[in-house]
Amino acid sequence: MTQALLSIGSNMNHPQLQIETAFARLKEHFDHVLMSSLYLTEPVGGIPQDDYINAAIQIETQQSAQELLLILMTLEEQAHRNRANQTPNGPRNLDLDIILFGDEIVSGSDLTIPHPRYRERRFVLEPLCEIAPEAIDPQTQQSISRLLELCTDENWVQILDEKVPSL
Ligand code: ADP
Ligand code: MG
Repeated sequence: MTQALLSIGSNMNHPQLQIETAFARLKEHFDHVLMSSLYLTEPVGGIPQDDYINAAIQIETQQSAQELLLILMTLEEQAHRNRANQTPNGPRNLDLDIILFGDEIVSGSDLTIPHPRYRERRFVLEPLCEIAPEAIDPQTQQSISRLLELCTDENWVQILDEKVPSL
């Protein structure tokens, strides 16, 4: 079993519903699926667009990172994300990224793990730190909570609907 950490985001066509639908579909594919609170976040990259809703998800899987990527891309397609007609960093119905996959380091043409830009993204690190503060980045050997302390991203991230911690 490998523990994978994902980032999920949407800023189009009812973002909260997009995320809740994808979360329900992930639960059909994997036994253990845990999602952080939802966060309202400022779009990064300078393109004028609506604010995002982001969250982090932890799953346990027997599948490979490549197989997981295929499942995530299928979920993006089910959300009618149109990749052909899309600006980089532009608005999207659903974005699902693999941030960490156990302690694996992957560097392929279609898959890079750890995700190459997540350490500079507060909208990824804040939700991730809520559910997996002690997970270790295999490239830097830093914990997620340490990476969040080191992060200088000034784009705002605001928690929505904070969950009551379970006892
Ligand atoms: P971004 O998420 O950076 O805004 P896209 O979602 O449009 O960009 O990019 C998707 C492509 O990125 C996918 O086709 C996939 O092959 C590639 N990719 C590389 N590494 C990862 C990763 N760790 N998680 C998800 N997609 C990845
Ligand atoms: Mg993506």
